[in-house]
Amino acid sequence: MFSFAPPLVRLIEELSKLPTVGPKTAQRLAFYMLSMPVEDAEALASAILEAKRRIRYCSICANITEADPCELCTDAKRDQSVICVVENPRDVAAMERTREFRGLYHVLQGAISPLDGIGPDDLRIAELLRRLAGGTVLELIVATNPRVEGEATALYLAKVIKPLGVKVTRIAHGLPVGGDLEYADEVTRRCRSPLTRENRFPAGSCPKTPARGSGTRSNGSATRWPRGRRSRPRDSSGASRTPASSPRGSLKKGPAATSR
Ligand SMILES: [Zn+2]
Repeated sequence: MFSFAPPLVRLIEELSKLPTVGPKTAQRLAFYMLSMPVEDAEALASAILEAKRRIRYCSICANITEADPCELCTDAKRDQSVICVVENPRDVAAMERTREFRGLYHVLQGAISPLDGIGPDDLRIAELLRRLAGGTVLELIVATNPRVEGEATALYLAKVIKPLGVKVTRIAHGLPVGGDLEYADEVTRRCRSPLTRENRFPAGSCPKTPARGSGTRSNGSATRWPRGRRSRPRDSSGASRTPASSPRGSLKKGPAATSR
């Protein structure tokens, strides 16, 4: 029975360990690599090894960096009183692309997920609490992704940080349910609202949510839209965006923009 040469089998096996790469994709990549010029293959292998050897986690914020502490933590121009908590380094890059947030970051390196056996002790939460104990941080913006794990992590953080007297806000409105922060638009990412239980209800699940098209919020005030608009404005993701000033108003249709 025919089988590939052992070096090729090994390459396919190693590639199939990568996320989102199955056996067929691994085989396709391996054959592509075989067709590459030797210099390109060496450059690829060298880049992987160099990144592994030189990139580390910042001892303060746990973001990936070459120099420790990272350039964000050592930037004196950044607001030292605000920390944005994200799940992974890609979220830091996404936030930085907005050019709106000028505070510091803290990367949890994941989210609480009991099904995967990931608890608070497996994340960089203890390091975060130590940073907050310093007294210079006044606000924590929880920007974990709007999945079950991210919401559970946000609630846990709000619970353990509340006694410290640090204001905790949540970046959530405007993001589509199940969408990643990495793919959200800049306008959505720069909005935030107080982290409360009410703000966590997904679209339409709140029992006090008024019927669609009623034109009123639960507090009875009329919903005003810009003149000439016949329907609610929608953002690029298709989720409704509500210029509400109260958290309950934002519950009407999904995670809407709410100013604090
Ligand atoms: Zn850092």
